[in-house]
Amino acid sequence: MRFFVPTDIYVEKNCVKNHAQNMLAVGKRAFIMTGRHSAVMNGSLDNVTEVLNAGNVVFQVFNEVEENPSTDTVRKATLAARDFKADFIIGIGGGSAIDAAKATALLLLNPDVDADDLHKVPSHRLDHAPVVAVPTTCGTGSEATPVAIITNHKIGLKKSIPHVIFPELALVDGKYLAFAKKQLIVNTAVDALSHMVESILNVKSNEFNRMCPEYGLRLWGECKDALLSEKKIDEGLYEKLMLTSTIAGMSIAQTSTSVPHGMSYDLTVHLGTPHGPAVGYFLAAYTEVCGKFVPEDVQKILSLLSLGSVGEFAAMLRSLIGTCSVTREMRDKFAASMKVNRSKLDLVPGGISPEDVDYIYEKSLIVEK
Ligand code: NAP
Ligand code: ZN
Repeated sequence: MRFFVPTDIYVEKNCVKNHAQNMLAVGKRAFIMTGRHSAVMNGSLDNVTEVLNAGNVVFQVFNEVEENPSTDTVRKATLAARDFKADFIIGIGGGSAIDAAKATALLLLNPDVDADDLHKVPSHRLDHAPVVAVPTTCGTGSEATPVAIITNHKIGLKKSIPHVIFPELALVDGKYLAFAKKQLIVNTAVDALSHMVESILNVKSNEFNRMCPEYGLRLWGECKDALLSEKKIDEGLYEKLMLTSTIAGMSIAQTSTSVPHGMSYDLTVHLGTPHGPAVGYFLAAYTEVCGKFVPEDVQKILSLLSLGSVGEFAAMLRSLIGTCSVTREMRDKFAASMKVNRSKLDLVPGGISPEDVDYIYEKSLIVEK
């Protein structure tokens, strides 16, 4: 049994300032990657640049990372980072900014690899520049995973790239959630929930690595009522939500995600569904199917969340993220491609049949009349 997360992670209020020296030690020329608005709005960009200015680390900001970052954006960022002679990359934002930062860090040191080839399996392991991650959503846990999910629009593919890119440093501060809309917090918290459920309902799950998702699910359960309520989330919960998300990232860093994530990517690519709900729609039916072979694991998940049944789990998810409608044609097409997605299907404990895959789609998506 092995547990491996080589990232130096701090989860605490004001950790960017508190651990300034750790960031300054990473490099001398920082290329900062963010989305269009949020990093300015929530103060995370200012917090980082104050530290860099005080430590005489020069930096350039690239604020063009879109949701579900594309190979084209990563290419553009890499050219700018190379021109700037960056020696490390800082990703500030949700999973999109951090994943784009990871992919840029890889291309920066590998000028022979084009962004459109990021999904190809390399013949040898490629180096990457160091990455510092400052997450501002409570979902992906990308600050603690080796994964970067990148979209290639030319071939309609959203997928993780086959490179191991753990950030060197992660500075996780819940205060940035104060600027997020409630539904963004809910959507990303559902992503973190899915990471932990898929990590337990996974052939790579073991007694050792379960310490993460089991602890994280307990924390998630403590946030459940606040997520379900109509009210704004109490700021006392921000740090717990962020901690849960990082722990969920540490969980999938050991096992990887499974079928619900595999199913989610088509919804995002073809319907523009945000990542958290796109995964969450499939989560209860996946849990139900896994109950055939690992009923005690399903019971454990439900009890950590203080839920009585998979039906209650499904109802909770519906309250949080609603439902999703697709045409029958789309659903059949998505199901057909999932039935050959061995990288996800092979992770299901006890195996999963094509009929089970159909069943999950049937239960999870509404077919438009
Ligand atoms: P996101 O796509 O990074 O961001 C969603 C939206 O939230 C953006 O409009 C962003 O605005 C805004 N935002 C971010 N932080 C905010 C804050 N504190 N306050 C207000 N608005 C804020 O969302 P995400 O769910 O975190 O990331 C999703 C991506 O991560 C997907 O591509 C998914 O596949 C990937 N993912 C990666 C991993 C991994 O291990 N690497 C795991 C799961 C998912 P701006 O654009 O202005 O910044
Ligand atoms: Zn996810």
